Amino acid sequence: MPQAHPLLDSLDWPAVFAEATGLFRDLLRIDTTNSPEHPGNEIEAARYLEQRFAEAGLSVEVLESAPGRGNVITRIKGDGTGGPPILLSAHLDVVPAEAEHWEHPPFGAEIHDGCIWGRGAIDMKNMAAMEAMAMLLLQRHGCSLKRDLIFAGVADEEEGCELGSLWLVREHPELVRAEYAISEIGGFSLHVGDKCFYPVQIAEKGYVRLTVRARGTPGHGSLPNADNPITHISRAAQRLAEQRLPHHSTATARAFIEGLARNQPFPNSAILRGLLRSATADFILDHLLPDPSFSASIDALLHNTANPTVLRAGLKINQVPSEALLRIDGRTLPGQSSEDIVREIKAVIGPEFEVTLDSAADPTVTDADDPIAGHIEQVMARQAPGGIVLPMLIPGFTDAKAYSQLGTRCWGFSPVQLEPEMNFSSMFHGHNERIPVEGFHFGVRTLLDLVTTLVL
Ligand SMILES: [Zn+2]
Repeated sequence: MPQAHPLLDSLDWPAVFAEATGLFRDLLRIDTTNSPEHPGNEIEAARYLEQRFAEAGLSVEVLESAPGRGNVITRIKGDGTGGPPILLSAHLDVVPAEAEHWEHPPFGAEIHDGCIWGRGAIDMKNMAAMEAMAMLLLQRHGCSLKRDLIFAGVADEEEGCELGSLWLVREHPELVRAEYAISEIGGFSLHVGDKCFYPVQIAEKGYVRLTVRARGTPGHGSLPNADNPITHISRAAQRLAEQRLPHHSTATARAFIEGLARNQPFPNSAILRGLLRSATADFILDHLLPDPSFSASIDALLHNTANPTVLRAGLKINQVPSEALLRIDGRTLPGQSSEDIVREIKAVIGPEFEVTLDSAADPTVTDADDPIAGHIEQVMARQAPGGIVLPMLIPGFTDAKAYSQLGTRCWGFSPVQLEPEMNFSSMFHGHNERIPVEGFHFGVRTLLDLVTTLVL
């Protein structure tokens, strides 16, 4: 196996970890909560990083897409012999935290029980700090790069990327154009049985936002009404709750599930493989997978999904309305179009409803056999011997949706080691978000290993 770049052996790692941890905790203390009521205010985090980069002699730009919505970009030039640029990207905003449900303050960055606690500890100020540290180290050591390395700390991912990565791709594509982008969500340890896996994100589902409309006969609330649109629309919601959309076995699903199955004893291996067959998948999802959150993730990997999320009908207690609306958050697998999922939804809810498409974004997928996969495998073999790298699809979306519009191949690799009992996905947007200090150090070193492998 090739060695890591000599830079890694020459570093004073305790000092690097201390600096990266300081930078990370500073970012956690900056409240960049982003919600409709509380726009991100990422500018403070962007200015903070600007200052750290400028101190190291990097030229850096802060771009405001709207007042207070800061994006920060810096670049180390390479000679281009290794190819087009590599982009390291992290969103600087976080989702709201209900402090009363936390054991430690969400913007305190306190250290307890070997963990750093705070909103953004996993999603994804850890990665912002790791990426910034890689930039600072390459700059300080005067490394000559064979391709440009870009860092983008972006706004607004948690509210749809409009004022962050999408804005940059639209308004300043030359600043973020790259062959590869490395960002969330992947590189975390996932313990299944006695094996440790490291899923790496190579695909994300698309989304389709729909309105289902039921019409009926309006009338007085005092009279029976068999044509009440509220009861009609509730049947549509009920049918979606009772029936999955059809099973699809995509290349990413096959690679992920086969990778898990190969490393599990019988009968677990056979049960896992059964998920790839439409005849057995639903039974296994409902009855044989022990952990509901694992089952839900696998379910989303094998199906387009449709969740009713908004219901609107009626104005007055004594009046049957003439129509009722149900909004549906649909998610599409790679290879599936908006038309495909609309057809599937119509088949489940029945022909009596009017369905309109409000907005949609295609799934993104990159090739699991891309050359970068080999580099990630080597890095993980060095940094986490025995760990098994698995290509993964995520049900949601990230800044990869934006960057892939520029032809960038997006890889979700934000390395972190978690204790077996810590559930990565429950930490995302959940209470008590935290990261083990050691697991963060692992991330700093592993990301630097990958970055040096790619650019030096
Ligand atoms: Zn995120």
